[in-house]
Amino acid sequence: MGKIRVLDEETINHIAAGEVVERAASVVKELVENAVDAKAKKIIIDLAADTATVKRISITDDGVGLSAEDAVLAFRQHATSKISKPDDLAEIVTLGFRGEALASIAAVSKVTFTSKERGSSEPEAVQVVIHGGELIRQTFVGAPEGTTIIVEDLFYNTPARRKFQRSVSTELSHIYDMVERIALAHREISFVLLYQGKERFRTYGTGSYPDAVAAVFGTTFARDLLPVEKTGGIAEVSGYVSKPGCNMRPTPTRFYLTINGRQITSKSLQWAVREGYGTLLPKGMYPAAFLDIKIDPREVDVNVHPTKREVRLSRERDVGSAVRDAVYTALHDDEIFSAAPASVKPEQQKLFEEKKEEEAEVRAEKTYVPAEQTPSPKRSLHEAVMSYLTPQAPAEPVRSSLRQTEIQLRRTETSAEEKADVEVPEVLGQIGDTYIACRNAKGELVIVDQHAAHERVMYDQLLKKVEEKKASQELLAPVTLTLSRAESARMPELSEILAQAGYVIEPFGQDVWAVRSVPVISSRLGDVKVIHEIIAEAAGITEKNPERVLDRVVKTVACRAVVKGNTPLTKNQMERLLRQLSETDSPYTCPHGRPTALVLSKEKLASMFLRT
Ligand code: ADP
Ligand code: MG
Repeated sequence: MGKIRVLDEETINHIAAGEVVERAASVVKELVENAVDAKAKKIIIDLAADTATVKRISITDDGVGLSAEDAVLAFRQHATSKISKPDDLAEIVTLGFRGEALASIAAVSKVTFTSKERGSSEPEAVQVVIHGGELIRQTFVGAPEGTTIIVEDLFYNTPARRKFQRSVSTELSHIYDMVERIALAHREISFVLLYQGKERFRTYGTGSYPDAVAAVFGTTFARDLLPVEKTGGIAEVSGYVSKPGCNMRPTPTRFYLTINGRQITSKSLQWAVREGYGTLLPKGMYPAAFLDIKIDPREVDVNVHPTKREVRLSRERDVGSAVRDAVYTALHDDEIFSAAPASVKPEQQKLFEEKKEEEAEVRAEKTYVPAEQTPSPKRSLHEAVMSYLTPQAPAEPVRSSLRQTEIQLRRTETSAEEKADVEVPEVLGQIGDTYIACRNAKGELVIVDQHAAHERVMYDQLLKKVEEKKASQELLAPVTLTLSRAESARMPELSEILAQAGYVIEPFGQDVWAVRSVPVISSRLGDVKVIHEIIAEAAGITEKNPERVLDRVVKTVACRAVVKGNTPLTKNQMERLLRQLSETDSPYTCPHGRPTALVLSKEKLASMFLRT
């Protein structure tokens, strides 16, 4: 009797299982990929473990499902619906195609496979139970369209392999990582991952890369990415990469590449991405990259490795160049390298100042009687101004906000003689309509919070007035306001404190109060809404010490009267605000103790740029 034998199918399955199914994570990968291939819109991965192993893997999808006949066939070695002839191998668009995953998994575990074919007239779903490759039973059960596969007791019949399994936590981290990768590659599918019944992670299937990245890595991470888009040429490249200086890591753990929808690893393409960064990448660091590459399927060979992560590209160099160029373009298109549009555009600033002149002119015209009546000089002046204004006039909100700022800034303007001889930083520009970027005498970059800064100025001035008992100014005409019962009830004890802050308020009737004076920094017309807000806030203070209550009221008054964030300022306004801030005794914090300015010294910048 000779030594050579043809192996029976079970043995073949065990050997193949070793290739495809080396651990729980590879089971999850194969099953999730099958669900993706089945055109599912939602895939739920439900895991359960004891202290030693992952005991149960359940994957549910709402994909196309299988008929009863196909469900049994699917577990045969080399049974696949995805290719039928050798030529198909050249143009594979599915993740699976070898037809060995289900057979291999079922050979080394206990599988319950329930499936109902989409659009089938069969009333029930088929259920197949296979233990160690052996069909235990086939029945029909009630189930929705799609497929649920439950894999239990993995490697129960291959003790050698079971021994090689790593700890549950290691296995879980592999599974999470792998599901994240698949979810990032298939943004149009919603993935839900549960462990011991608790949701660990979920994507929403919106199709958008930023949404998927935000679901997996958080919104902050997603915000620090730049879009990549390159069409034409041998490879289309699209996706996202780190903004320079953001999300950098010493290892390429955040590289997510797909070729024609298949997630892959490729050292040469990783290298191409880094080349795209060039000098924007610190030495030894890797950016995050989420890139989809589309190539003619005939240019890619996917039939390379059993786990199919490594892909052989017939024109690797050309694809690499396409990736490098796409990344380079994305980084250099970015706004951080181009001139930022100022929030108050120079022409708007000019028009704002022009507008003031125009108003002055109108006022002058009212009193001016021309000696000679030329044909309608007023109209032509008006026309001239209008034709100049119309094409690029700033939107009314910008104009009125600039006017409002002007009023607020003037409240804290000291007279020219009082101006101390202080160095004022040079204004570089406004950031986000909220911060003033400037350079101080030492050449440091200073970022000032415009609201906090003006609040400090206002508070200091107001407090001084309170101490000098000069905080109050009489209104042009008293205004009345109706308070709530609760507010009215607190007025007797509050009115003295409010008076010190500048508000002289007297009873006028049932819950009605007359305001005679307001703080010197407020409008003399009496803004009922603001006054009411300040009383409401004062009434809400539980503090008993009257001095501290006064301080709180003064802070609130200051806060209401000053320049807010999200308000465009002209350069001139920024300069005046900085001057005012420089004149205060404690310019570095606002009255609430928050910083008004951040200083980025040369050393600080060096460390931020990883120069040290
Ligand atoms: P492959 O994915 O390489 O074709 P598998 O062994 O993973 O091989 O699956 C065998 C066949 O079973 C697939 O070709 C597919 O027709 C079917 N199948 C597997 N999982 C699913 C599923 N979740 N939904 C629908 N059909 C499935
Ligand atoms: Mg498969």
